[in-house]
Amino acid sequence: MSDLLPRALFEKDPSMYRVNEQGQRSPDFNCCVHSSNAIEVVCENVVKYAEILRPTTGRYFYWIDDGRPMCQCSRCRLYSDSEQSLILENEMLRALRRVDARATLAHLAYARTMEPPVQVKPASGIFLEFAPIGRTWSEPISRREAKEGQHGRYLDWLDSNLAVFGKDDAQVLEYWLDVSLFSSWKRDAKKRLPWKRDVFLEDIAAYADRGIRHVTSFAAYMDADYVKQYGEPPLDEYGEGLRRLG
Ligand SMILES: [Zn+2]
Repeated sequence: MSDLLPRALFEKDPSMYRVNEQGQRSPDFNCCVHSSNAIEVVCENVVKYAEILRPTTGRYFYWIDDGRPMCQCSRCRLYSDSEQSLILENEMLRALRRVDARATLAHLAYARTMEPPVQVKPASGIFLEFAPIGRTWSEPISRREAKEGQHGRYLDWLDSNLAVFGKDDAQVLEYWLDVSLFSSWKRDAKKRLPWKRDVFLEDIAAYADRGIRHVTSFAAYMDADYVKQYGEPPLDEYGEGLRRLG
């Protein structure tokens, strides 16, 4: 978010920034989504980056700060973090459409934004991006009791989000190939991927059963050092699994 709302503007207009848990305006994370000045600056920068990094698919991904809280001001605190994100996303999409008529924009369901929005409706062109970072990859997502019931909670969140955002453009952002996650984000202590082909295949079948056609995975830290240490990663099996799903 600091690229979209530069932190250096705090001194000029603190009202653009979030109210934190102590009741103070703070430039630490995100913004106040009920500040029209904040929305204006964010949208200007959304368009600026869209002109530099134009996706060939028309699908844009501007996320709030990773796992960080939203605003607690008197107007924002009536809304959940998912709803505050969606207020911002609806505005960002409107700005994007002025420069790219076919623009669509992700609503990231992840960490603090897993609960679907209720009081705010997605504008046409907002699609769901679902990232279940807290699951286990030892067992398929369809095993509801896995990780002490966490998989069941994720499936319920996925279904309730799909009911709000629709399934047609929905996207899963998974971690099957994410060396960084399995290495606890310590690049110098890179671990071998615990790739389980059967789990992956069951996962994508569970997503496909819900009508999801867009599937992605992080694959951070998968580089020359990784190949040197552990050999070729299972990219062929990953691609083949997705291909079989048609
Ligand atoms: Zn606010």
